[in-house]
Amino acid sequence: MNKNNEKVEELIRELIDRVAGGVGLIIWDMRPKEELTDEEMSIILGIEINEVRRALFALYELGLAEYRRKRDEDTGWIEYYWKIRYDKQREVLRRELEKVKRKLEEKVKYESENIHYMCENGCVKVRYEEAMELNFTCPRCGGTLEYLDVTNAIEKIKEEIKKIDELLAEL
Ligand SMILES: [Zn+2]
Repeated sequence: MNKNNEKVEELIRELIDRVAGGVGLIIWDMRPKEELTDEEMSIILGIEINEVRRALFALYELGLAEYRRKRDEDTGWIEYYWKIRYDKQREVLRRELEKVKRKLEEKVKYESENIHYMCENGCVKVRYEEAMELNFTCPRCGGTLEYLDVTNAIEKIKEEIKKIDELLAEL
């Protein structure tokens, strides 16, 4: 496994943990060779079927799992046969990173286009127009509203965007 694969694995695990929780990670780590029903997974893993289902649908929402419905010939019940899409991890990661990047870019745009004032005691952050209406006085504590320099904050966000770009280039 090269370094790039390790990074992908680390990021995908973080994503699964956040979206599908610990059970999602356990299912991901199962690496089943064939399709399994949620019930079979529940038995193999010793985890409540409802938790298994919740995690599977979360993985499905991410695009990391898919299912096939099949009627059981004996019982007549509809069974869900699940397949974990390990082959999709880079694609999913790329999509998620691009989503985060877009949000960060919007934040940079917003912070760059709007001048903010902040209470000297840290109670409130308001836009310039609002600060003027308030006569630069904090509505909560009466302190002075001071010009908020967001240059550093914007630089930090830009650095984050750069890191994401580097990751995307590696994917
Ligand atoms: Zn205040």
